Amino acid sequence: MQRRPLIAGNWKMYLTQDEAVALAKAVAQSAAACADRDVMIAPAFTSLAAVCTAVQETGVLVGAQNIAWEKEGAFTGEISAPMLKDIGVSVAIIGHSERRHVFGEDSAMINRRLHGALNGAILPILCIGETLSEREAGKTFSVLEAQIRHGLAGVDTEQMQQVVIAYEPVWAIGTGKTATKEQAQEVHAFIRQLLESIFEKNVATAVRILYGGSVKPENIDELMAQPDIDGALVGGAALKAESFDRIIQFQ
Ligand code: PEP
Repeated sequence: MQRRPLIAGNWKMYLTQDEAVALAKAVAQSAAACADRDVMIAPAFTSLAAVCTAVQETGVLVGAQNIAWEKEGAFTGEISAPMLKDIGVSVAIIGHSERRHVFGEDSAMINRRLHGALNGAILPILCIGETLSEREAGKTFSVLEAQIRHGLAGVDTEQMQQVVIAYEPVWAIGTGKTATKEQAQEVHAFIRQLLESIFEKNVATAVRILYGGSVKPENIDELMAQPDIDGALVGGAALKAESFDRIIQFQ
């Protein structure tokens, strides 16, 4: 099964609007040289509209770093799927480890956000990952299984075709410590098997599973060579045009 690779940049709480637009234009140039893969960038909310305009008709996807579950209402600080769609956003990162661990978002909330995205025709990237202490205690697979089962609760087979999973070991995010290609492949294969047991084989075979956690120009090729790694969710190295360009151009 040929899965279309997805290279996604999470810009977190960095870049002013002008800086974001300049970087988005550079990313669009990099992406233009690679028609066989998807490229997504997720700026801070303040730059979303300007970045959508900057990459219009280039094929580069723009993502939000979070999404509300309701369409509108008294939800201070939140932004909904119709609002994001209105300005050209088509993807949302959901359940990022910083949302889970810094802001205390739990599985029930993450599941609601995922449904908010699916109901609003926004492609969700559901992030999952174990902490270092969970890994050292031998709990990696049970933690990931719980995050997947809770995160995807109520999602049907058809909807699952619109979901991307990102495996991001918490101990590898922003630490410079990458999972080895063997560690990442082992987990990605586990996730695919689990999805097969929850949904159907053809859904599990088609779903894109990204790796995230200190992805950089030096390790992207070996990660992408793994059979169950279909792309990358990149933080720090997505903030520099040169390093993200090399990641987009993975071989
Ligand atoms: C991330 O923010 O999802 C991430 C993986 O960050 P970094 O690449 O900096 O580890």
